[in-house]
Amino acid sequence: MGVEEGRFAQATGYAVATPQARNLRDLRHRRFGQPVYVSADHTLGRKGQVAHWEKFNVRLAVVKFADNVMLGYDPADLLLPTRFDVEGLPVFDIHVCELCQAPFSLTQQEQDAHVAPSRCVACLEEA
Ligand SMILES: [Zn+2]
Repeated sequence: MGVEEGRFAQATGYAVATPQARNLRDLRHRRFGQPVYVSADHTLGRKGQVAHWEKFNVRLAVVKFADNVMLGYDPADLLLPTRFDVEGLPVFDIHVCELCQAPFSLTQQEQDAHVAPSRCVACLEEA
């Protein structure tokens, strides 16, 4: 097996956003190394970065950044990729809820169809 095949095979084992699970909190079957998009801005300079989930520490999900820094976040603030590209790298298509301003990941289907929900799941449920 070639290097590219290996990377692709590995990446496809990780979750992408679905209508039921758009972040790490809602994901039922989590795999260590899951790529996530950090949407929280409580740690300066980390918002919008891609990290990999390592473990849970009480209620925090600990992620590792490309520079090997490890930080804990609310798993709801760690967004799942919309899809993986041909290289196996995660692609994040992030929209912001028009009501509460919470960022959320689009699903591949929504990205392909160019129809994104205008509100996050929590706000849709309240409506
Ligand atoms: Zn919302």
